[in-house]
Amino acid sequence: MYIDSHAHFDLTLEDSTVAEDSLMAQLRSNDIRHAVQISIDTASASWSQDFARRHAGDGVLYSLGIHPSSPAGKDELRELADMAERAACGDDAHLLFGIGECGLDFYRKRQDPETQERSFRFQIELSNRLGRPVIVHSRDAMEQTLAILGDYPGTAGIMHCFPGDREAARRVLDKGFYISFAGNVTYRNAASLHDSAAYVPLDRLLVETDAPFLTPVPLRGKKNRPEYILHTYRFIAGLRGEPLDRVADAVYRNFLEILNNAAKKV
Ligand SMILES: [Zn+2]
Repeated sequence: MYIDSHAHFDLTLEDSTVAEDSLMAQLRSNDIRHAVQISIDTASASWSQDFARRHAGDGVLYSLGIHPSSPAGKDELRELADMAERAACGDDAHLLFGIGECGLDFYRKRQDPETQERSFRFQIELSNRLGRPVIVHSRDAMEQTLAILGDYPGTAGIMHCFPGDREAARRVLDKGFYISFAGNVTYRNAASLHDSAAYVPLDRLLVETDAPFLTPVPLRGKKNRPEYILHTYRFIAGLRGEPLDRVADAVYRNFLEILNNAAKKV
């Protein structure tokens, strides 16, 4: 059994040839027991909540957050916090998996660095208040990301689409975070990611698609879909020299542990 810790179903469904029913059917037939719909702005936040409610029976959960490339003024942050606080005490509080994705993206820099940092800190604090992990996006900004996280010791979190080498992985693990690998770990030229994925202890490892992005080899070139995650699991197991089942079971246990910890804090 498998989980996909990070997918954008809304962006995947923007492709008119992809049907919602078929995405769900593929989750079931590929034994993907949970997938997390990740929001990137306030509009996708409410879509994500509705989507998770619609597909709770298929193990779909969701996050609420503002991506570092999305607008994050006072109004957006307030709207996000209101929504998350309502969601965390509502009837389907168990569907709210985490806060994010948020963080720093100094590669694209669609928002200025101060806005990104303010939004990131706001969402770390929100995640702590609600007892949910923060889902962190960090691109060309690992030092700054770690420095900000250092101001919030004890924060539970996931470094999504892990971008770094073994040393960066060690520093993220030192913060108590889980590390989630996406399809780019399967790319031939990703030597430092290969090394990191072999290094992260099994009890801190997660796997994601980040669909519709970062499609794993051998499907690279197509738009990514949650069921393609099996290629990434297989590749990571190969890197580690461990049986696929052992890696998949460990990732599944880690995911349940995150859910249980959140449930205890509710
Ligand atoms: Zn993402």
